Amino acid sequence: MPQTTAYDSKIEGNVIFTQLDAAMNWMRKNSLWPMPMGLACCAIELMATAASRFDIARFGSEVMRFSPRQCDVMIVAGTVTYKMALAVKRIWEQMPEPKWCIAMGACASTGGMYRSYAVLQGIDQLIPVDVYVSGCPPRPEALLEGLIRLQKKIEGEQAFLNQKPKLAHELIPDIEKRTHPTPSIRGGVRGAAPSTSSVA
Ligand code: SF4
Repeated sequence: MPQTTAYDSKIEGNVIFTQLDAAMNWMRKNSLWPMPMGLACCAIELMATAASRFDIARFGSEVMRFSPRQCDVMIVAGTVTYKMALAVKRIWEQMPEPKWCIAMGACASTGGMYRSYAVLQGIDQLIPVDVYVSGCPPRPEALLEGLIRLQKKIEGEQAFLNQKPKLAHELIPDIEKRTHPTPSIRGGVRGAAPSTSSVA
């Protein structure tokens, strides 16, 4: 079934018909506020992504806050040592729902070259990851592709039903029948060395 779009310029006029999920997802995906979790060298590329040459503001994501309560996408950029791991998890838990996570680079995705007692072998051992961006370090373009893939993933979410199930069933008793399953857009397999990024 084709995905419902929130906005169609071809039918632009005084009234736009859409679905609640589509409208919510449209607003969410275009205003992702990152929590920059810069832990090592990948963070330099993360900073470059925000600079004028790459301009993450084109995607509505230039608002990098250092308060987890104002963020909805954590970008884990760098080596996650065990010393930092629980701090990363605590900050993740302080972020309000809905929230998403991008593992940027080999270290955040798998531990990278550090097969050592001091390094966590992938941040997904502690928090759920939505998009993995490969590279050591990934270039800013790769991070932007990861962001675009996350936007596509958000497009397919059942935002209203998943987050307000009680209210959804009160308003629309047969909502389960009316909604269709979230389309799968898996872009790669963990460990298969995707060329740029993959969606979990
Ligand atoms: S993936 Fe490479 S560039 Fe990124 S933090 Fe690890 S060692 Fe540094």
